[in-house]
Amino acid sequence: MPACEDCGAHVSERFTAVFGDDAHVVYACPACSDMAHIVRGGAATDAAFAARVRGDEDDSKK
Ligand SMILES: [Zn+2]
Repeated sequence: MPACEDCGAHVSERFTAVFGDDAHVVYACPACSDMAHIVRGGAATDAAFAARVRGDEDDSKK
């Protein structure tokens, strides 16, 4: 079972697949962070993933 790289808490494989980086490694989880941060890419260090989650690639708001 995968674990959070930050606090070591066990997380589901689904969680790492959705919120982790390309290697399914997560650096934050509900035990040591909050979901608002995580859903914005806070659990991944991959910049592209974080941008994708945050919607930074969406230029329609300019
Ligand atoms: Zn954690």
